[in-house]
Amino acid sequence: MPVDQIPEALPRTQAHARPDSWSDLLVVGAGPTGLACAIEAQKAGFKSIIIDKGCLVNSVFHYPTNMVFFTTPELLEIGDIPFTTSLPKPTRVEALEYYRRVAEHYQLHVCQYQWVKTITGEDGDFRVTATDRHGAIHDYRARKIVVATGYYDLANHLGIPGEDSGKVFHYYREAHPYQDTDVVVIGGKNSAAEAALDLWRHGARVTLVYRGAQMHHHVKYWVRPDIENRIKAGEIAAYFNSTVQEIGSDHVVLLTPNGSLRLKNDFVFAMTGYHPDYDFLRSVGIELSPEQHRPVCDPETLESNVPGVYVAGVIVAGSKTNEIFIENGRFHGKQIAAHLKQTLGGGGKTDGRNGS
Ligand code: NAP
Repeated sequence: MPVDQIPEALPRTQAHARPDSWSDLLVVGAGPTGLACAIEAQKAGFKSIIIDKGCLVNSVFHYPTNMVFFTTPELLEIGDIPFTTSLPKPTRVEALEYYRRVAEHYQLHVCQYQWVKTITGEDGDFRVTATDRHGAIHDYRARKIVVATGYYDLANHLGIPGEDSGKVFHYYREAHPYQDTDVVVIGGKNSAAEAALDLWRHGARVTLVYRGAQMHHHVKYWVRPDIENRIKAGEIAAYFNSTVQEIGSDHVVLLTPNGSLRLKNDFVFAMTGYHPDYDFLRSVGIELSPEQHRPVCDPETLESNVPGVYVAGVIVAGSKTNEIFIENGRFHGKQIAAHLKQTLGGGGKTDGRNGS
């Protein structure tokens, strides 16, 4: 919406003074879902701003360096822009290129490295405050808000002694630094399986520790035989029905069905999953369900219990983070844009590019 059509609810002097800080829709989170929300809103004729405390698609950037997606490229597409890859499944690097080009194509207004601290005001006139890396405060005003903050920033912690030491990682990047070292991988799903295999293939001595009785059935069908056969062959040591009790500088202590065990150890990869920032959601006034922390929202429109504030992407599933992925979260933008049209009136259909 052009600046001269800013609704009366906003003081026009301020909005005119800083047109870049005003939008119909402010999206918190520049992941694939957040980008899709802004694109669909722009296609419906609404001005959008995206704010992210990291870089564009920050989570994808922090995935393992050489990651290959489990899914095929068309299922990661947003904004009706084709995603073509040389092999059947895209790499992390290809995905970074793709989402960056999509953001450029739609001329999305993305404010990187700004951390949204507060969202106040009311439906039609929200005020958003963000701080940047230099400590400067940025004020925004928006008629509607989408929270699409994902879940990859907050790892599930074990709560055991030594977890905070520098040898413990909750994110796996690549294997090279760990060759000829003793590494423990904790967890029994996909990240644990892929990290254990990659570390073993690059010369680390790997011990996998999982509280379940065997690798979880969620491990992809083509990864599972690989990890199971390495374990069967004794190439990767594995302790099932077991937990890490303590992490020391040169050892870990396991609790196994056969009792306590002390293993020589250099590094620990706790591949124990991630969770949404529930505190941030609550700070916006969004109610969460008691057990699974699912935001209270209309499943059709994704509007939360706070009028004018929408939730999108994996956060909609609360702690059930295996229910929503890029593949289905990317459609949330269309649901929200449809509701924006109903509540804000037709912004007018455009090609979705900023200012078109
Ligand atoms: P995840 O699916 O949440 O699995 C976490 C694992 O850690 C589970 O085995 C869980 O045990 C265990 N765990 C959690 N808390 C624990 C605790 N306090 N103590 C001990 N163990 C604990 O996480 P993920 O494997 O990182 O996968 C996250 C998402 O990324 C999934 O959607 C996955 O499919 C996706 N992924 C994609 C790729 C790819 O595309 N190439 C690769 C890896 C992962 P339980 O099994 O008992 O719950």
